[in-house]
Amino acid sequence: MSFTAVDIIKTKRDKQELSDEQIDWVIDAYTKGEVDPEQMSALAMGIFLNGMNRREIARWTQAMIDSGIRLDFSTLDKPTADKHSTGGVGDMITLPLAPLIASFGVAVPQLSGRGLGHTGGTLDKLESIPSFNCNLSNDDILQQLAETGAVVCAASADLAPADKKLYALRDVTSTVESIPLIASSIMSKKIAEGTGALVLDVKVGSGAFMKSYEQAKELAQTMVDLGKDAGVNTVALLTNMDTPLGWAAGNAIEVQEALDVMNGKGPDDVVELTVALAVEMLKAAGKPTPEAEVREALTNGQALRKWREMVTAQGGDPDAPLPKAKYSREILAPKSGTLTKLDALAVGVAAWRLGAGRARQGDPVQAGAGVLFHVKPGDKVIEGEPLLTLLTDTPEKFEAAEDSLKGAYEICETSVDFQKPPLIYERID
Ligand code: URA
Repeated sequence: MSFTAVDIIKTKRDKQELSDEQIDWVIDAYTKGEVDPEQMSALAMGIFLNGMNRREIARWTQAMIDSGIRLDFSTLDKPTADKHSTGGVGDMITLPLAPLIASFGVAVPQLSGRGLGHTGGTLDKLESIPSFNCNLSNDDILQQLAETGAVVCAASADLAPADKKLYALRDVTSTVESIPLIASSIMSKKIAEGTGALVLDVKVGSGAFMKSYEQAKELAQTMVDLGKDAGVNTVALLTNMDTPLGWAAGNAIEVQEALDVMNGKGPDDVVELTVALAVEMLKAAGKPTPEAEVREALTNGQALRKWREMVTAQGGDPDAPLPKAKYSREILAPKSGTLTKLDALAVGVAAWRLGAGRARQGDPVQAGAGVLFHVKPGDKVIEGEPLLTLLTDTPEKFEAAEDSLKGAYEICETSVDFQKPPLIYERID
């Protein structure tokens, strides 16, 4: 059956449901270049404004999976599990998590992305390791999973190509923050990737796509349902992204933080979240493991040994010094008291402006740029002591970064009974 893009746009504009046939046609035609970007933009805006029901989201997801290949790991002699985060600031959890899970005999085919805007990208972080290769063929991925058990690399062009095209379009048409479009985008890639189990880290808060709890919960439930319907054992954790994770937002500085975690010296929030996600991944992959055992493996060298194997397998040198920024500037506490706020979005924007992120796809990033945070909400601060350190190779960027940090932190002078909000809010399955 043939349709016209104009009729399909009109259907959504007028708040009607798209039929399965309309969805299959428009995704296929757009992938082949037979539907113009301006038409797909109008449809994406129609979906952004008027939504899609569960059937439409499932069909849209399936059509994007069918636009490319689906990886098959059935020849591996171990189960597979993956984690996906909806994106945050200082979120380098994949770096210690993938080798940790692999060290328990569960293969991790982690196909990751690059950063865009204020949220960092796992591949940009890994590429700060000298000669680390993120571009593996599908055969290389299978071989590394069989031999090492963990792979973190870019998805090949033939995996959900419809999503690649559509995501780039949404990025420039302000249609990213839509639950049906985010859920189908993430899940089409994860289902096509061929993982048997999937744990979703759905962020909520200032530094996340979803600012409200209700929206984040709806996104999590939508993705869990899509995963289960496709035969992927999927669970989600709703986690806090009002404050950046760990001590660093950048590229090489987040790799250093991952090494600190695997050497037993990592920040508490990163350790807590890594362990919680690992427990869920191992359970979903059919290898339930007590939390204490997982925590021990994260910090006693077991995960670090697997990390070194993974970095070496991908051409990197695990002993090479990480790049450092040429310039630094400290932001000092204007008064003494208790830090009651450190805003994730503002810190993410500062790191991005310092050169850690990119404004347009394909732009280069600086390996050493970013922001180090010396205190987190609840900590005492002393007037004149450093709160943050800004790092960059291009010192003319300091001013713009400092601008984005205006109002990013609050210090309460009177001794307050500051209640730290929970890091993990809820589990959804
Ligand atoms: N990440 C994705 O892969 N897709 C989205 O739509 C948003 C975040």
